[in-house]
Amino acid sequence: MIKITTIIGARPQFIKAATVSRAIAQQNQNGHQVTPVKETIIHTGQHFDTNMSEVFFQELEIPRPDYNLGIGGGSHGKNTGRMIEAIEDVLVREQPDWVLVYGDTDSTLAGTLAAAKLHISVAHVEAGLRSYNRNMPEEINRIVVDQLSTLLFCPTRTAVENLEKEGFPHQLTSGTRQAVVNVGDVMYDAALYYGSRALEKSGIMQTLELTTKAFVLATIHRAENTDNPERLLNIISALNQIAAEMPVILPLHPRTKQKLVPADFPAVTFIDPLGYLDMVMLEKNARVIVTDSGGVQKEAYFHGVPCVTVRDETEWLELVTAGANRLSGADIELIIEDIQQMKKLNIVNEEFYGSGQTAFHIISELQKRNIIF
Ligand code: UDP
Repeated sequence: MIKITTIIGARPQFIKAATVSRAIAQQNQNGHQVTPVKETIIHTGQHFDTNMSEVFFQELEIPRPDYNLGIGGGSHGKNTGRMIEAIEDVLVREQPDWVLVYGDTDSTLAGTLAAAKLHISVAHVEAGLRSYNRNMPEEINRIVVDQLSTLLFCPTRTAVENLEKEGFPHQLTSGTRQAVVNVGDVMYDAALYYGSRALEKSGIMQTLELTTKAFVLATIHRAENTDNPERLLNIISALNQIAAEMPVILPLHPRTKQKLVPADFPAVTFIDPLGYLDMVMLEKNARVIVTDSGGVQKEAYFHGVPCVTVRDETEWLELVTAGANRLSGADIELIIEDIQQMKKLNIVNEEFYGSGQTAFHIISELQKRNIIF
């Protein structure tokens, strides 16, 4: 038996962890040859609104967290500090073989710091991503988490190369060296599994009275856009102009909602954040997706939809190189032009992100490496 403590706190992590938890349950049920895995889940509370958290636990059938820390709503420093303190208590009690962290949030950072100081091995899912923009809080978190992790699960070849450029794998202690493994992207597993469930269960197309391939889906939540009034105004103004021609649906992240007066952009259809199945349904049916989200850029690709990214850089460079994604920054004219160009494209998935079996790959590495380290 190996013991894993999974740390989650934000929307994208619920989706990724759901996929791994499902694979753990499946493997524990089926496998007589493999070491069973006992997973304990800590939810830090970083995302706490019902439609940013609870709905995902229900829809994605994520096991109930064993620990709910209820830490959210503060500054980066305050949240991270409080999380380290609370996670440390849990880890001392649980004594897991591995702490499993996802992505680049403050919950990821806090879990990693707490575990590393207790000499508990950290496995990082989505290791090696870099925007090379240290103004992003996510970039700072990634750099620290990768340094301290024992097992670095990269989603792409680009991520492996990023780590190689930084000299990874490093020696952690005299007996322990990091391992960098390209396992593929667990979000691709999720897109395949929940993609077919969305077709069965979601009624969002009817609710919003949308026609397939005749609308734009947009999400904006990154601090570099929401905390910069000029960038935010440019992006939403561009979408408002596009909406004269084709409906634009924008589920509003709580951070963006605080910074925006929807009535100033009357042509855009603002809605509350969606559950995952409804979100996937809209992604599958959109003509173009406009986003600053990391996860949504890839989901656009998984579902064969062209993407316009309203950032100046991306961690998913292979999509830009393949022509499936354009970086438009926050320039009104460029955003409009790129949407007009991209809506003509058909996207073919070239499998940059593995085979859809990443969750099983992750579990088998955790089982294998547990013996080595
Ligand atoms: N998402 C969702 N409902 C929404 C908006 C996004 O379920 O209203 C999902 C989306 O499909 C993706 C994930 O949330 O899987 C992305 O999360 P987010 O954009 O918050 O974070 P990022 O990927 O940028 O870290």
